[in-house]
Amino acid sequence: MKNNYLKLEFLSLPENQAFARDAVAAFCLPLNPTLDRLSDVKTAVSEAVTNCTVHAYRGGAGIVTVECSTEDGVLHILIGDKGAGIPDVNAALQPFFTTLPSEERSGMGFTIMQTFMDEFSVTSGVGEGTLVRMSKRLASEVENA
Ligand code: ATP
Ligand code: MG
Repeated sequence: MKNNYLKLEFLSLPENQAFARDAVAAFCLPLNPTLDRLSDVKTAVSEAVTNCTVHAYRGGAGIVTVECSTEDGVLHILIGDKGAGIPDVNAALQPFFTTLPSEERSGMGFTIMQTFMDEFSVTSGVGEGTLVRMSKRLASEVENA
């Protein structure tokens, strides 16, 4: 199976969220993922991209970067912004932690990403932006052998 690479850059408009999710899904298809695994990836990407829109750029329009690569049946995704940043990443990763309770955010986005993907990490700098790294095996072991 060939390794592959894709980089997307787009404005953090809500209408681009579905585009990003579906582009990543299309990129994954050659790995022949199960529908469950593909759905997990789409949900994780949606959560990360939504965070860029609502938190990083706070409703304004900034650049979101989504980089995907496949390596030996594993999908790696980097989702980055140059927005507000997160003052305390460990606190932000806790289930139900949200800085926007008034907008009916449940504070579950990072928890969902962590649960649905095999590997997950966040680095962030206040005033610099945030980078979410995620990986998930998509090809079955048998096919990949
Ligand atoms: P939900 O995802 O359930 O709608 P939420 O977005 O608040 O709610 P998480 O996605 O888990 O929950 O994010 C937790 C907190 O981390 C956010 O409330 C916000 O303060 C911060 N955060 C997350 N992503 C970013 C980002 N890209 N830039 C700045 N802050 C972020
Ligand atoms: Mg969120």
